[in-house]
Parts: sequence; structure tokens; C-alpha cells
Amino acid sequence: MHYSPQEIEKKWQEYWEKKNFYQAEDFSKKPKYYLLIEFPYPSGEGLHVGHVRSYSALDAVARKKRMEGFNVLYPIGWDAFGLPTENYAIRTGIHPQVATAKNIETFKRQLKSLGLSFDWKREINTTDPKYYKWTQWIFLKFFEKGLAYQAEIPVNWCPSCKIGLANEEVVSGACERCGATVEKKVLKQWMLKITAYADRLIDDLGKVNYLEKIKAQQINWIGKSYGTEIDFKVVDSKDTVKVFTTRADTLFGVTAVAISPENPLVEKIITKENKETVEKYINEAKKKSDFEREKLEKEKTGVFTGSYCINPGNSEKIPIWVGDYVVPSYGGGAVMVVPAHDYRDYDFAKKYGLEIREVISGGDISKDAFVDYGVLVNSGQFNGLSSKTAAEKITDWLEKRELGRKKIQYKLRDWVFSRQHYWGEPIPIIHCQKCGQVAVPEKDLPVELPYIERYQPTGTGESPLAMIIDWVNTKCPKCSGLAKRETDTMPNWAGSNWYYMRYIDPQNDKALADSKKLKYWLPVDWYNGGMEHTTLHLLYSRFVYKFLYDIGVAPTPEPYQRRTSHGIVLAEDGRKMSKSFGNVINPDEICQKYGADTLRCYEMFMGPFGETISWSTQGVKGVRRFLEKVWRLVSEPTENKKNSPEILRALHKLNKKINEDLEATKFNTIIAAFMEFVNLTLEKRQAVGKDTIEKMLILLSPFAPHLAEEIWQKIGNKNSIFFEKWPKYDPKLVKEETITLIIQVNGRVRDKIEVEADISEKEARELAISQEKVQKWIEGKEIKKVVFVPGKLINIVF
Ligand SMILES: [Zn+2]
Ligand SMILES: [Zn+2]
Repeated sequence: MHYSPQEIEKKWQEYWEKKNFYQAEDFSKKPKYYLLIEFPYPSGEGLHVGHVRSYSALDAVARKKRMEGFNVLYPIGWDAFGLPTENYAIRTGIHPQVATAKNIETFKRQLKSLGLSFDWKREINTTDPKYYKWTQWIFLKFFEKGLAYQAEIPVNWCPSCKIGLANEEVVSGACERCGATVEKKVLKQWMLKITAYADRLIDDLGKVNYLEKIKAQQINWIGKSYGTEIDFKVVDSKDTVKVFTTRADTLFGVTAVAISPENPLVEKIITKENKETVEKYINEAKKKSDFEREKLEKEKTGVFTGSYCINPGNSEKIPIWVGDYVVPSYGGGAVMVVPAHDYRDYDFAKKYGLEIREVISGGDISKDAFVDYGVLVNSGQFNGLSSKTAAEKITDWLEKRELGRKKIQYKLRDWVFSRQHYWGEPIPIIHCQKCGQVAVPEKDLPVELPYIERYQPTGTGESPLAMIIDWVNTKCPKCSGLAKRETDTMPNWAGSNWYYMRYIDPQNDKALADSKKLKYWLPVDWYNGGMEHTTLHLLYSRFVYKFLYDIGVAPTPEPYQRRTSHGIVLAEDGRKMSKSFGNVINPDEICQKYGADTLRCYEMFMGPFGETISWSTQGVKGVRRFLEKVWRLVSEPTENKKNSPEILRALHKLNKKINEDLEATKFNTIIAAFMEFVNLTLEKRQAVGKDTIEKMLILLSPFAPHLAEEIWQKIGNKNSIFFEKWPKYDPKLVKEETITLIIQVNGRVRDKIEVEADISEKEARELAISQEKVQKWIEGKEIKKVVFVPGKLINIVF
């Protein structure tokens, strides 16, 4: 009989679905386990093999956990609002709503053909008004608590998509969606006050089990730094330039101050002679993006304003410059220039003839800046102090004279929460001339997105909704006067901030989810997703959840107990998969040609889970051959064969390895261990009992579920393999029995002996000393110490 996945896979998918195997049960007495993958954006391209990598791996975890007796929730849904669909609609003329429905249908068929064990009864869709009613409700709660507000801010503007972008949507100065160079535009935007949660977003990382690199990225993104705010009083003026620095120890070396082109002070201090050059410079600077301006490899440029300020350290008069490398969003839009102790300030000073004054000893400032900490010189009463002590003392000294103070600064900015496009959740606010901004009453939620024919961006900075006059015009809920609806929509992060809560109670129309159910299921036990979402989705959703916790909706301080991350799947040629390169691997084709089990196992086998890996058709074929071997192994009649001790040991070791490696996301080494085991059993076919085959099938079932189920029932089992209990291994059988212990005397190898693998230090020492070859070296000498490396060596030192 030939292994033909095409003939068996569909059959079992229907069988499992009919038996409702994957339904999670609220309030079950079994221990709960909530496993989450990042729900897909149903784009027109269909499922990507990159999706399959994460979904298959966590599916294996879900299946194993169920067999271990857990009540597993492994849900799926659609993150369907956002630009790709809107752009697709504009290109094709197909309405986003229609396109979304069609795309979801494709994704659903594709996911089902992989046999993933999602609980489809809990499927959600962020564009469903019954869903986004609660996305809007969350916004209103933010608004109520003063954490959602409107502000005029310069936003990143994509001239091609004609919308404002969040900083996170700008990649290397270009629009993340279309690649156009991003410009600046001042627009009125809704903002969410994520900065109010900055400290908790850092501190509470101590409560969760995330990969270290994920924690580090979040901490860097928030960018908390402790430093000093220093006042530089402007000469002949009441104004002050306030500068934030983490290096107050270098104060006496400050020979200029630079302010951002946007700083309102510029207008006031600019002198007549310098007006023209400064204004020209400012106009150029305003065209550049923050990214371009802050680039570290870029040379600093600037112009002199004509005005001076006083260095509060040495009371010297120093010039005030305007520099485009100073951005308004950081440090209040002003920095100090310390040429002797900052590389770029050094170049800046050389270029513009500013004084370079050494205040930290240790370098050679005639050659370049010295940026390390050291001992202070040329710093008055602070000479001789170390950088760290000096920074504290100088801050105290400034504080006493009211010329400076301790300050904590963050890189994190409030979150721009409005978009000027059609395909998003309407922001539920009404603008009334008399009452101002008024929340849409809860009973009127959802504010449904009107179905319109023209959803192209207006290009004026307003959303297309602004053109639907009879939708925009409405009554003020407070005074019943004429009022207008907010026409901005939410960013596509809005619906994905809290979706995992909705899975818990997807039909609820009284609350975003029942509080008892939330309490039962949360936090998510294991959440896997892309590294590229660490500073976007992951940080935002933690913020939203913490807010919901504060208002009594969420039951725990953190939403995700564990966070892991998978690498990207590249095309066979090592490039990103793209239609234009013609190198896209379609999961449908792989499924048809090799089978879903091969695709699933291959994507687990392709390499370490966290690493970016190129597709390999050879690799796919190799995995297919492995599954064929399993098929061959068990499609022979199973007589009453007895297991050899070797086979038994190998089986129990395999069992142990799967348990450990699955927890450690080492999916590739599991498949490799299976391959080894199957080769061994084929070789020793006469020494493999039916019980071993059955146990192996159970162990294989989370990874190749269709194949395992097929053979399981073929060899005489009436019930599904997924009703079986996950096997336990015998600790005695997995022990390495003996090892070679190296005996050293004073670091030199003098003997090697075979010993029990788990020999204790005391036993090893006695055994080592009693060896003839060893005795002649230590005879009559006093042993000073013994170094014991379990499983490897013992070193006797005298
Ligand atoms: Zn764009
Ligand atoms: Zn009103």
C-alpha cells in the first residue's frame, strides 16, 4: 500500500470537526490552557507559508496538551480592517467589505486543509459591527478617563497613500505599506496616552515569561532614562533653554546649545543679521522626516541664531544654534553641545569653529572625542571626581541654585490613534459647537461604518467619511443641537489590541466578555507571534489590557504569561516571497503535492523556530520520505513481536525529548529525533512490538495528525487517537547507563574508567583514589581539593 495523503487527510478533517474535538469548554474542571497565535490579516494573497510555521507548531502544542488532560483554548479569527484591503479595493474596484468576505473564505479553506485544531466555534472578525462595538466601547472608556485626546501634531504623511502614519509604520523613512518617502504634515489627531503607562509597561515585564530579546526590545522602545534638566538662561532675555542630559558630568565642557527648528524659542531669539539663513535652514529641515534627521551616521548640521545663553556651570556665554538633528519630540527640543565628549558634537565643533574643551580626562581630544566615563578636569570644584559622582553632585548643585533638576525621560510617545481612511472602526465621538467633544452614548454603539461607493482617500487629510454629509450631520447627544460626527477611523491595531479577550466570549452582546469567563481563561498561557510585532502590537495590547485592568474589566495585571517568537520564512532564493519576484510558495500546492502532514512537519523541521529560514524543496521531499517510512513501518502486519531493550530505551528517550523540546520550542530537533527513531525501528523490525508502534503513533500525532490517525484506526483501534492519554516515559529507561569518567591528577589525565552515569562526587572520588594508576601519583600526599564535573571528569589536586 502506498502512502497517499490526498486520500486520507480530508476524511479525518471532517471526522474531527464532526466530533467537536477542538472545542474548549468554559469552566471545565480540567486545568485550562490558553494557546494563542497572532490572528491573520486576510489579504488577497491568501495564506503565506510563514503563517503555517507558527500555526503548525502551536497546533502540536495544543494537541499534546489536550492529550495530557488540559482544557485547551486554541482559537482563530480575522484581523480584517486596515490599509491592504482598502488599497486592494481602490485598485480593483471591489468593495473592502466584499473583498474581506472573499479573502476570509479563502483563508478558512486553506487553514482547514491543514488540519489545524482551531476552535472554529469561537471565530471572530474585527470588521463585524458586533465585534467593533466593543473596540469603540474601549475607546470611549479611554476618552472618559482622559486618556484619549485630540492634538495638533506634525504627523508622518504618506503622499502616496494620502494618510497619516504612526512612527511604527515608517520604516527607514518610508511608508511601511507602499514604500513612498514619508513627509511631515500638521494634522489634528486622536491620541492615546500610552506614556501614562510607561513605567508599568517596563516594571511588569518582571511578572511574565517572555523571551529576553522581546523584553529588551520593549524596554528600549520605551527608552526610560534618568538624567538632569539644565536651564541655560538666554542673555538679555527672560527666556530659558531647557536641556535634558544623562551626562551632567560634562556640563563644564558645554560650548554651545542647539535647539530644534520647531522650538518656539527660535522666533524670539533669532537676530536680524541671521534671520534669512536661519529661516532658510528651518524650511529645509521641516521637509525631512524625524528618521532622516536623527540618523546616527548623518553628520550634524546647524546655523547660528545670533543669540547667546549662559552655561550655569561656569557662567560663560555660549552661542545658541539651530540644528535639524534635534527633534522636538525628545528632550523638549534642545540639547547641549559637548564637543570634547561626543563624536558628532566633535565634528560639529570642528566644522563650525566651536571650542573643544576637555572636562573628562582619559582621551586625546586633539584627535577625537572621548566619550567614556572618567575623572573630571577643568570643572571647578568638581575636579577629581568620577563621572558618576560628579553627575549627582552637579545636579544637586544646580538644584540648589534653581538652575537644574533630576528628570526622567522616555523615548515612548503617545500613540497616534486616528487614521484618515475608510476601512477602519469609526471613532465614536460627536463634535458639537456648544458642548465640544461628546462621547456617543453606549446604547448607540456600534457607530457603524457606512457602506459607501467612494472610499478613496480625499488627499486633503480628511477621511472619505467626511464626504458622506447625511452620515456626518447628526444630533448632539447632550444638547440635541446640530452636530457632526468624527470622521477619522481607528488604526488597524485597534481591533487586534484585545481580540484574545473576545475569543473567550465571542457572542456576548452585553459586555466585551463575561467577567467570570475572563477570569477562568486569562491570562493567555502561551502567545506566539512575529518579532516585528514586539514594539507594536505586543506593547499596545499590553497597554490596553492594563487600562482594562484598571477599570475592572480585565482580571490580571498582564495579558500574556509567555511570549515566544518565530522566524520568517524566505523564498528558496533567500529573498522575501513576493509576487513580483515570482518566488512565492503557495501552501495549497505543497498540500496537494506532498500532503498537509508533510507541510506541517517540514515547517517545524526547517530550522530553529526563532530563526529566519529559506524554503527548501529538497527539505520538503526529505520530510515526505520520513512520513513514507512511518507508513511502511506500520502497514505491515504486526505479529506478536517483543521489544528489544534497545528499542524500548529509544522509545522512552524519544518521549522525554518531545516533552522537553516542545516546551523549549525546539520543534526541529523533535522531528529529527523521530527520523532517527523510525530509522532504528525499520532496521530492527523484528524487535519492535505492536505496543511500541502504537506509542510512537501517539507521540507522532501532534505533528502529523492525519497520518497518525489513519494508521491508528487501521491497526484496529476503534476510537480516535486523540482520545489517548499522552504517554509517560520511564525515568529508568531514559538514563544513560554508563559513562567514561576521566581521572586527572593535578590537571593531567592519569586514567579513564567506566562508571554509572549518575555517580555521585563521593563515589567518584573513592573510586578514583582506589585506581592503581592513580595511586602511584598521590601516594602519601595530602589531597587539597577535588574538582568533579558530573558525567565527565574528576580532578584530584594536591
Ligand atoms: Zn504609503
Ligand atoms: Zn451639544
